[in-house]
Amino acid sequence: MANKLKEYLSDPFLKQLYSEVRSAGKIQSISIDLTHTCNIRCAGCYYFNDNMDVGHPTADEETFDSFLQQEKERGTNFITIVGGEPSLKPNRMRKIVKGFKASVSTNGLKKIPMDGLEENLSIGVSVWGDHETDMRLRGDGRLDIFSKALKNYKDDPRAFWYFTAIPGYADQIEPVVEKCVENGNHVLFNFYGDLETLGNEMDHRRGFQETRKAIDKVIERFPGKIFMTSYLSKVVSTGKLYDQSWGYDVCTSFSTNNPVNYKRMQNGNPFAPDFRAYNADLKTTRRCCTGVDRDCSSCFDVWQHFSWVMLNMKKHLGSKQEFTNWLTTMYMFYLINRLIDFEKGSKNIAEIHNRQTPNENYAASQLLEAIDV
Ligand code: SF4
Ligand code: SF4
Repeated sequence: MANKLKEYLSDPFLKQLYSEVRSAGKIQSISIDLTHTCNIRCAGCYYFNDNMDVGHPTADEETFDSFLQQEKERGTNFITIVGGEPSLKPNRMRKIVKGFKASVSTNGLKKIPMDGLEENLSIGVSVWGDHETDMRLRGDGRLDIFSKALKNYKDDPRAFWYFTAIPGYADQIEPVVEKCVENGNHVLFNFYGDLETLGNEMDHRRGFQETRKAIDKVIERFPGKIFMTSYLSKVVSTGKLYDQSWGYDVCTSFSTNNPVNYKRMQNGNPFAPDFRAYNADLKTTRRCCTGVDRDCSSCFDVWQHFSWVMLNMKKHLGSKQEFTNWLTTMYMFYLINRLIDFEKGSKNIAEIHNRQTPNENYAASQLLEAIDV
């Protein structure tokens, strides 16, 4: 293993990425629901679909403060803030970023203020499609959340778009990304799991082949602005990583203090040993951030898949390209979450895309267009 690493790291670009990630040190993360309430209701929200708000009211201030202290003492240094809608609790975010690096997911409707939140915070702003689709699925047919979010996060260096790609709406990817990039932001993709069985265009069982093609196209157009690599897009959307298929048995991010997961911890597959997904009461944990007992086959959450790749380095040592796939995934995670210098690191994004294996679908379609078939 050491010899292979040495060989791959003789490439100066890979060596640079590797040393940046190494120098960030050990990341010990948790996820917390900052609040159990939200100001909208999206179609297929896993939080409310899985009743994660029920029985776990938002912690009071005293509990919140002592929780942060306990986690500090436990060695936690990175917090993923979800919910509910975290922008409803900016003061609590201010307390978090004083002691931890953090990443927050927001629906974008209410701006997360700058004051006291300039540092240590990465903001993922959700969008689910073009204005019409987004309004229908998230805005109850009348609220144009995408427009409001564009305005709220114009040129905001903390923000990136967290674009949930819906399998039947691949044609919306390019125009939406164009708007996000024009707005001065980067873009990461997530893939829609049809928890409410809405079917048709929303049905994840129809596959994400067209979605992947569209993502590869925007990578070609905006190479410095897209956080999602071709490799990760394929892993998330196909659920395949070498000999493994995505699901509970291989998932690496679940609450390791919750008895429901003790059996999983014995099966030999890697996992994050200190990870916990806290409910809004900050006393109890649930199976994982995205579910209590949801069917894992509908889980396309990109963060969990990042972790799946990152904790399976050994599988990626077979060739320089495979190692590149692993390292660039790792690097993007660190970069998006500002665990390394963002300004310096973002200059590497275009070259990272350059180092991916070309996607056979997009490359083939380009070739066919070129020869006019
Ligand atoms: S904004 Fe988030 S928490 Fe609120 S309903 Fe939508 S997906 Fe759920
Ligand atoms: S829902 Fe996703 S994150 Fe949760 S245990 Fe299943 S695969 Fe893992």
